[in-house]
Amino acid sequence: MIKEKRKVFKFGGASIHNADAIRNVGEILENYKDEPIFIVVSALGKSTDRIEKVVNAHAAQNGKAQELWDEIKNDHFSLLKELIDDPNHDAFITLNDAFVEMEWVLDEDPYENYDYLYDQMVPIGEMLSSIIVAAYLNQIGLPTQWADARDVILTDDIFREGWVQWDETIERFEQNMRPMLNQGGFLLTQGFIGSTSENFTITLGREGSDYSAAIFSFILDAESMTIWKDVPGVLTADPRKFDDVMKLDRLSYREAIEMTYYGAKVIHPKTIKPLQNKNIPLYVKSFLDPKGSGTLISSVVEDTYPPMVAIEDNQALLQIATKDFSFVAEHHMSDLFTKIAELRIQVNMMQNTAISFNVCVNDIDDKVDRFIEGIENEFNVTIERNLELITIRHYNQATLNSLRGDKMIRLEERIRGTVQLVVKDVPILKRKALSH
Ligand code: ADP
Ligand code: ASP
Ligand code: MG
Repeated sequence: MIKEKRKVFKFGGASIHNADAIRNVGEILENYKDEPIFIVVSALGKSTDRIEKVVNAHAAQNGKAQELWDEIKNDHFSLLKELIDDPNHDAFITLNDAFVEMEWVLDEDPYENYDYLYDQMVPIGEMLSSIIVAAYLNQIGLPTQWADARDVILTDDIFREGWVQWDETIERFEQNMRPMLNQGGFLLTQGFIGSTSENFTITLGREGSDYSAAIFSFILDAESMTIWKDVPGVLTADPRKFDDVMKLDRLSYREAIEMTYYGAKVIHPKTIKPLQNKNIPLYVKSFLDPKGSGTLISSVVEDTYPPMVAIEDNQALLQIATKDFSFVAEHHMSDLFTKIAELRIQVNMMQNTAISFNVCVNDIDDKVDRFIEGIENEFNVTIERNLELITIRHYNQATLNSLRGDKMIRLEERIRGTVQLVVKDVPILKRKALSH
């Protein structure tokens, strides 16, 4: 069997948020109509946030779930009507089948396990968007097969953050998707979702569609992967927070991993590694300016980079001290880390003294509370929440001074050209700080 090299494209929520945006995606893809592009889409616009509200209303049984869901349903239905000329198109039936599945969940009492409930409801966003975009592409003469990502991506059963079981996923790809590829045209599937070995739908973590595209790129041994964003490429900082940003034309995998791990929201942090392992170039391009050069992320290491800033909100700083004055590093580290790993808490910075361990972590959901509950018999724990982690790579003094400002710094670390500051979260308005 010939395994021809393919390009993988990922279109995120912003690129498909309404009919005009989807038409624009069609125009981009027209330029590739003779290539067998593999397409990954996420949910439309902010619909994942909206479906989360339905989940919460259903879990709380506050009587609002149906109404919230009806709005989402109507918006998707109207969008399909706006895009598809033939009122008897199969997509109306497929979309309706997906609505019905959601309604079954809403008719039942909510499952007690919130994370499980979430994963049985939230993926509908990707199911709906993928049905709509695939139908539209076919209508404009770009033959596109729709595939269910859950038939391929297999994970463990930690709901809301499934970890990919690579060997089985590759096997399932060969069984379920490879034959479709061999039929030619585009293949379009969903990002963000997979399934467990018991066949329950699972999500890979918020914003996980970039990662899904990287999983497929890895399996396909893709020629390249492109993520289409609402920015011209990777910038030196988030343009929502800084106004003196500049586009980076090239970035090494290493730089990209470091920046995204510490909060550069433009790419999901798990995306880069699978690409790096197979040396697959990643382009970040603007769907508003598809001919623009974007950013190329590859194994090429640049000599110099300008200062780059990533900001991660919702940080908690924990000081964990032994009650019996045993040395924390000698006796307790492995226990502490086992618990951190079990809860999948992201550790961003740490420091230890003889009897205390200070750790800065992402404070998401109730994970940190659960961690504290698990250790407070043995340790005195103090916690400070609502902090901000600022990471500056390739810093210069002017950038550092400007970012430090008059902030209350809780923890600071410098390693070579990188400075990290954990600071009291103060609302950041657009600021000039990068001094390129
Ligand atoms: P998607 O539509 O694929 O979900 P996202 O909204 O997740 O796209 O990512 C794009 C956004 O990431 C941009 O609108 C921008 O505000 C933000 N962002 C954060 N950091 C950066 C950065 N360093 N460079 C470019 N964009 C960034
Ligand atoms: N739709 C999901 C989210 O909003 C996944 C993604 O967009 O990447 O988190
Ligand atoms: Mg996103």
